[in-house]
Amino acid sequence: MAGREYPLDRTRNIGIMAHIDAGKTTLTERILYYTGVNYKIGDTHEGTATMDWMEQEQERGITITSAATTCHWTQEFEHKKMPGALEHRINIIDTPGHVDFTVEVERSLRVLDSAVGVFCAKGGVEPQSETVWRQADKYQVPRMAFVNKMDISGADFFNVVSMIKSRLGKNAVPIQLPVGKEDDFKGIIDLFEMKAYLYLDDKGDDIQITEIPEDLKDLADEYRANMIESICETDDVLIEKFLEGEEPTNAELKVALRNATISTAIIPVTCGSAYRNKGVQKLLDAVLEFMPAPTDIPDIKGVDMEGNEIHRKSSDEEPFAALAFKIMADPFVGKLAFFRVYSGTLNSGSYVLNSTKGKKERVGRILQMHANKREDLEKVYSGDIAAAVGLKSTTTGDTICDEKNAVILESMEFPEPVIEVSIEPKTKAGQDKMGESLAKLAEEDPTFRTYTNEETGQTIIAGMGELHLEIIVDRLLREYKVEANVGAPQVAYKETFTKAVEVDSKYAKQSGGRGQYGHCKVRFEPMDANAEKTFEFISTVVGGAIPKEYIPA
Ligand code: GDP
Repeated sequence: MAGREYPLDRTRNIGIMAHIDAGKTTLTERILYYTGVNYKIGDTHEGTATMDWMEQEQERGITITSAATTCHWTQEFEHKKMPGALEHRINIIDTPGHVDFTVEVERSLRVLDSAVGVFCAKGGVEPQSETVWRQADKYQVPRMAFVNKMDISGADFFNVVSMIKSRLGKNAVPIQLPVGKEDDFKGIIDLFEMKAYLYLDDKGDDIQITEIPEDLKDLADEYRANMIESICETDDVLIEKFLEGEEPTNAELKVALRNATISTAIIPVTCGSAYRNKGVQKLLDAVLEFMPAPTDIPDIKGVDMEGNEIHRKSSDEEPFAALAFKIMADPFVGKLAFFRVYSGTLNSGSYVLNSTKGKKERVGRILQMHANKREDLEKVYSGDIAAAVGLKSTTTGDTICDEKNAVILESMEFPEPVIEVSIEPKTKAGQDKMGESLAKLAEEDPTFRTYTNEETGQTIIAGMGELHLEIIVDRLLREYKVEANVGAPQVAYKETFTKAVEVDSKYAKQSGGRGQYGHCKVRFEPMDANAEKTFEFISTVVGGAIPKEYIPA
């Protein structure tokens, strides 16, 4: 019997979150390099980064998609697999850093189990990191921090640590210290092992493990003592030992730190330079040691078709339930739906119920994306992240599940668009094609809407910001060969309508008031009684929740 390749406790579903330019793409790429077999290091300057799937992301240097990539890692010591260490599977869920796409962050946060926050050693906590961090707080996502760019001029590890503490209100505890900084950045000190890891070559392949340099010994002692105290404070047993003056073992400390990280009591802080290939392997070790497996996180909640709340355990024995978190148009296989399995297993070729839409669908193929290849899977298990081919009506946020055990999982909330513009094709003939193409784009992106203004007959597109809509127009041209002109940006209808007067969906009614509404149409009334125009607007809420106050009693 072909069982699961990786036991659940050896799976990590992580996101990498960062302010734009902090080095998320470079770090992701280096991770893929060190975990991969023959993946070549590219430079994001040259636009060869693997995670940036779309052409325009490479041009603009921003990551707007949320692809998931699978890699494998075994803890290392002295640059060899640590004796007895087991191979783990890490699924990296890409999260974008640009403010217009915080919803992309939101949806990836929903399906990952933990995240690595990447901070620039000079810039530290930038406003955008705060936004992302707060989103992660909302879902109680366990986190670690990687202070990147230790090699740049002005790099200051200790300043970034104190910024994380003060600005993000988190108990940031360094588990490493940098050796040198700026041009003189040489490597890191592991505060558990109390050894220095010095990176001798450019690729980070030649690592020397040595005694801590003389001039850093006192600092390392001080930081180790702080680390031990912080960890002990989170653990009832260890704090007793600590107060009696006994030092817990490293093994005990690591178990306690793992628990404290998972409960978000502590943010372990590591450092390095992704670009100079320093500190990446040690970060991966820390991910395996301190970040949760799917079994370490609370059960996911949902509602059954009668609207009763139910819980699903991360276990292969439970009925199948998964959340679609990203839809992508793929040049090779067509529509790809990335999904996270919360419970049960799924065989390729089988039928599932899209409980959000009330549609039965067939999963033609299941694909897992690696750095340099895609792999066809026969079966996926609870905790897995993969992409399905064949889910025609599935959109972001939908639950797919076992037909006999239907459930709608707690989904994500998508904000209403804030800005809109009118759009028209350059040629009359392009009108139908533009409409179809916009509909496809709206399917991929729940914060993007398109509708026709009943009064003027104009096609309107609405999104999260000007850049968001610019990218839509760009994609229309690139992917659908539709050239279009847009009008001046307007504040979107979000400001104008507050109350839904009609909800048209059986699922909406079934689960009314519980925050799960599936696909439904809502007719809004204008909020402003003095508004000159009194027209109705039908909004399609896809897979998200309609705020309670919008629902008619
Ligand atoms: P992202 O926007 O967070 O994905 O950031 P990128 O990975 O694209 O990096 C932004 C820029 O910083 C690029 O020019 C990278 O080459 C550069 N960069 C990333 N990490 C480092 C680092 O550790 N040191 C230095 N010197 N540059 C880096």
